[in-house]
Amino acid sequence: MAIVELIDVKKNYLLGKVEVEAVRGVSFSIEEGDFISIAGPSGSGKTTILNLIGCIDTPTSGIVRIDGRETGGLSDKKITDLRRDVIGFIFQSFNLIPVLNVYENIEFPLLIGRETKKKGRDEWIHFLIDEVGLSGWEKHRPNELSGGQRQRVAVARALVTKPRIVLADEPTANLDSATGEGIIGLMKKINRDQDTTFIFSTHDPGIMEIADHIIRLHDGIVSFETRKDRDHAGTP
Ligand code: ADP
Ligand code: MG
Repeated sequence: MAIVELIDVKKNYLLGKVEVEAVRGVSFSIEEGDFISIAGPSGSGKTTILNLIGCIDTPTSGIVRIDGRETGGLSDKKITDLRRDVIGFIFQSFNLIPVLNVYENIEFPLLIGRETKKKGRDEWIHFLIDEVGLSGWEKHRPNELSGGQRQRVAVARALVTKPRIVLADEPTANLDSATGEGIIGLMKKINRDQDTTFIFSTHDPGIMEIADHIIRLHDGIVSFETRKDRDHAGTP
């Protein structure tokens, strides 16, 4: 079963009296464990589609199904549960909390969510810090980190609730290209190791190509879609 399915999805925004057709009939499906890019120029509908998948928004028409559940028909509470239990977010501007250190930023989603068992939490956070290459930086605050390090914190924070899907809206847009490729490489490693589904958007053709499955958008429709054979045994 597809973990994400969009069927003829349309999304209009009302801008004053003018209807903006941000997404104009998009269909695709994403399998669990996919490493996928939503690529396209500015204004092509990338953020709108990620917001629909992330249950931040609902479509004007069409169907968005996440883990078999159609988001349009769910109550606010069910949507909140789905978002919290299934999805992790990474943002372009990192969105770390300035007064919290690296460890506390990563821990934060566990504190605001549902009652979680404390047992094992510390080990899990340290595992993630190690996984994203920030061992030794636990006590540092975001303003003491480089852009690439901040985004590594954001990757760990997105993973701390063990989501099945991680959504990243232009996660490399504020990074130089080598650092950006490093972040995508890190996401790819986690995708392979933990089989987490990653969906990231980008307008950078070089970054787009790193994905196994590319959905190219243009003016709110899919202009092409490519899938490479998944290579789980391959290069590190
Ligand atoms: P991208 O992320 O690819 O740059 P977006 O999904 O942000 O594209 O936007 C797609 C289109 O929808 C653009 O024309 C944008 O101006 C419009 N749009 C996005 N959000 C809104 C909004 N809240 N109100 C009005 N128009 C919007
Ligand atoms: Mg955008």
